Amino acid sequence: MADGDERVGAFWRGLGLPGLIDVHTHFMPERVMAKVWAYFDTAGPLVGREWPIAYRFEEAGRLAVLRGFGVRAFTSMIYPHKPGMARWLNGWAAEFAARTPDCLRTATFYPEAGAEAYVRHELAEGVRVFKAHVQVGAYDPADVRLDPVWGAVAEAGVPVVVHCGSGPAPGEHTGPEPIARVLARHPRLRLVIAHMGTPEYAEFLDLAQRYPGVHLDTTMAFTDFAERAAPFPKEERGRLADLGGRVLFGSDFPNIPYGYAHALEALERLGMGEEWLRGVCYGNAARLFGVGRSRA
Ligand SMILES: [Zn+2]
Repeated sequence: MADGDERVGAFWRGLGLPGLIDVHTHFMPERVMAKVWAYFDTAGPLVGREWPIAYRFEEAGRLAVLRGFGVRAFTSMIYPHKPGMARWLNGWAAEFAARTPDCLRTATFYPEAGAEAYVRHELAEGVRVFKAHVQVGAYDPADVRLDPVWGAVAEAGVPVVVHCGSGPAPGEHTGPEPIARVLARHPRLRLVIAHMGTPEYAEFLDLAQRYPGVHLDTTMAFTDFAERAAPFPKEERGRLADLGGRVLFGSDFPNIPYGYAHALEALERLGMGEEWLRGVCYGNAARLFGVGRSRA
């Protein structure tokens, strides 16, 4: 357990919320998670610095911790880094969601032959959210092979959490420009820009202003850890307040180098007020994902 864990429940109860919704949590096949953790341990170039993982437990332990925090709905963010991997990850995630009713069934995709077919299969099976990771996947999100994928998910209205900012380390296709080309073709897409688009905060806020389907998740943003490397610009606080209805709490649990409470307290100390916090920590995601509504 980590520093401040005992304060998490008091945080949401103090706001009068029924709990938290965390749109950015990682559950994946055990051996993939082990590889991810081994990578963080080396502080390799995609990580860039010392990154001790605060919640390194086996799966059942991690689920118990999240539920103990009062997280009512969460995701299983998975992402392929090579062809032929997405379909396998999606199979695992479907099985995980089937035995984990509080997990929003998650899937992913990669620019490859067959992507449209397996994405349409997921949509037909009731997937609730997709994850795309432009840096790890090292692909152009505007790749022509993904065009029918974006089209299908836009039409279905299923949100896609996309890590497309250039933090913690830039990739060939990171930054606002490639995803802006996707939005120009599919303006109704429901995107959730991971990590507030760190470090290109202003440019991703521009996209959110231009496209009503663009949301941002707070994952790691505003924490001491993120502020040291890529501080959120003070002059953007006004837009952060104005776009508060499209800001969603995410944590990156379990792969975080600090206690979970710090991520929440980093939002509180922004001084945006309780109404903003209630939306960010629960209401906005409940609306976007239909949490609490019957899927029948
Ligand atoms: Zn993540």
